[in-house]
Amino acid sequence: MADLGFTVRRSARRTVELVVERDGRLTVAVPTDAESADIVRIVEAKLDWVYQKLARKNLLLNGPPPPKEYVPGEGFWHLGRSYRLRIISPPTNGVKQPPLLLRRGWFELTAPAAKNAEQHFRDWYLLHAHSWIGERIKTLAPRMGVEPTAFEVRSVLGHRWGSCTPDGRLLFHWRIILLPARYAEYVIVHELAHLKEPNHGPNFWRVIELIVPDWRARKEWLAANGSRYYL
Ligand SMILES: [Zn+2]
Repeated sequence: MADLGFTVRRSARRTVELVVERDGRLTVAVPTDAESADIVRIVEAKLDWVYQKLARKNLLLNGPPPPKEYVPGEGFWHLGRSYRLRIISPPTNGVKQPPLLLRRGWFELTAPAAKNAEQHFRDWYLLHAHSWIGERIKTLAPRMGVEPTAFEVRSVLGHRWGSCTPDGRLLFHWRIILLPARYAEYVIVHELAHLKEPNHGPNFWRVIELIVPDWRARKEWLAANGSRYYL
């Protein structure tokens, strides 16, 4: 299901339990007489949880990525591409230049800004995430027949890429603009769909399917690869 293989284990029990094994294998323990359709429905409703578990396992197996050093030649993500960093002297002709620019395929950081490199990258990503996400929402929301009351881009959002508040505000982590656009877009569509369906039931996925027919593949990709995209 959803490109994941589950082992069904029947036993004299009354409830259905999903287990993500230490090595990532998936088992669903069900009562002896459970109907296949019911098992599928229950597993489907818990797929998010399964993907989250798998993503965390993946992180544990591969270890946390090495911290950024902000040195020349080092790669930094933007919409799925890695751009190398170079440190430049600020212009001497009095032209005011932002501390960090993405220009002609390079991230250019001015030498005086280099000591606060991480902060400048965060500021840059936050700013660009805001305009990029805003543009995507403008296109996607009308297609989905929804209208968020507002959206915010944040630096802290727990483990999540995005979330939707009960009063219809969408929250996104700026980190989504590190991802290839199609996956960042999936996150946006996902949160927009919550304006129609608060829960991850079948109706929710039907809303998503209209815009992102291959949502399962994108979701799985995110769970498996999302942790590679970090600052
Ligand atoms: Zn959700």
